[in-house]
Amino acid sequence: MSKSPNATQNIQRRRAVPLVLILAFIAVPVIAAAQEIKPATEAAAVARPNIVIIGTGGTIAGAGASSVNTGDYDSAKVAVDKIIAAVPEMKQVANVRGEQIFQIGSESFNDERLLKLAKRVSELVKQPDVDAVMITHGTDTIEETSYFLNLTLKTEKPVVIVGAMRPGTALSADGPLNLYNAAIVAASEEARGKGVLVVMNDEIHSARDVTKSNALKVETFKSLYGPLGVVVESKPYFYRLPSRPHTTATEFDIDQINGPLPEVDVFYAHASMNPKMLDAIAGLGPKALIYVGSGNGSVADYMEEPLKQVSAKGIVVVRATRTGSGLVVRNGEEKDDENGWIVTADQNAQKARMLVSLALTKTQDPKAIEAMLYKY
Ligand code: ASP
Repeated sequence: MSKSPNATQNIQRRRAVPLVLILAFIAVPVIAAAQEIKPATEAAAVARPNIVIIGTGGTIAGAGASSVNTGDYDSAKVAVDKIIAAVPEMKQVANVRGEQIFQIGSESFNDERLLKLAKRVSELVKQPDVDAVMITHGTDTIEETSYFLNLTLKTEKPVVIVGAMRPGTALSADGPLNLYNAAIVAASEEARGKGVLVVMNDEIHSARDVTKSNALKVETFKSLYGPLGVVVESKPYFYRLPSRPHTTATEFDIDQINGPLPEVDVFYAHASMNPKMLDAIAGLGPKALIYVGSGNGSVADYMEEPLKQVSAKGIVVVRATRTGSGLVVRNGEEKDDENGWIVTADQNAQKARMLVSLALTKTQDPKAIEAMLYKY
C-alpha cells in the first residue's frame, strides 16, 4: 500500500529532528565563543550615540526645602552634571556629557541668552562626534526657546528639550524619567529630521505646537494638534510628522543672525483697557506689536483709533487671540486691510512674537510677515 503524501512528510520531519538538534549543539557554543571575543558592554559602547546635554537651569535643576515641596522650591540650583549622574540608566542609551551654559529660571531668558544657546547648539550639531543635543530647560518658556531653535537651526540631528514640573528633591519628581525619555528620543534614528522636539511626561511634542497649559501639573505640555508620539518602556513611538517647515527647510539661519533681535512687544487685551497703554508701548519704538485680543483677536471700539495710530508710526500690528487656540480670521470682525493690520494665524502670542521677530530680520513688509505666520 502506497503511503499518502502527508504520511511521507511526517516521516521526513521525524528524521529531520535529530539533525536540527545536532546543529543546535554545534551552533550554540560557536555563538557563545564569538560573544566572548567581544564583551557585550564593549560592543554596545561602540554603537551608542554621543549626546551633549546643555544645562540652562529651571525646575529640573531645582531644589525644595523638603520632599513634600512640589510647588515651593528654588529653580536652577543643581549643576547639569549632577542631574545626569542622578540618571545612570542613560548610560545604557548613549554616551552623554554635560555642559552648563546658564543656571537660570527660564522666565529670565532674553534674546541675548537665547542667541547664545542657539549658537552653541549650532556649533555642537556641526561636530561629527556629536549625534544629538539635549537641553535641560525651565518649563515656563520651553515653548519659545524650542520654537526659535526649530526655526533657525540647520540640522537633521535630534535636538531635544526637556524640563520638569517638580524639583529633584520632591516625592515623585518627574525630572529623572523625563531626562531618560528625552535621551531615548535623542538617541533614536526616528527623531532625525523631525525638527526640535520637547519630551515631557512620556510625550514627544513638536516645538512648533507645544505650549505650557497649566502652572503646576506634570501633564502641562500640550500640542493643539496632538503630540507627535510617546515614549513607552524605553522606546519612542512616533505617530505624526510636523507638516510645517522647520530647521533645514526655513529661511532663518542662526549662524547668520547677529546682534539683538528686532523688538516685538505684546499687549494683552481685557475689559476696560487704558488706551494710553498703546501710546506708551508705541513710544518705546518696537518694530511690531502683538495685540492679544479677546475672542477672534477682537479690538475694542475705543482701542481702534489708538491701534491705528500704532500702525501709522510704522509699527507692524499683529492681531492674536487670548483664547489659547483657533485661527484669527483676517478681515473677519476687524478691518485688517483698511487698518494695515495682520493676523497671527493659529499661533499663540508668545510663539508668534518669536516668529515675527525673526521675520523682521528678513523684511519689514507686513504682508510678507503675515505670509510667514501662515507658513510656519
Ligand atoms: N520657573 C521655572 C522655569 O521655567 C519653572 C519650571 O522650570 O518648571 O525655569
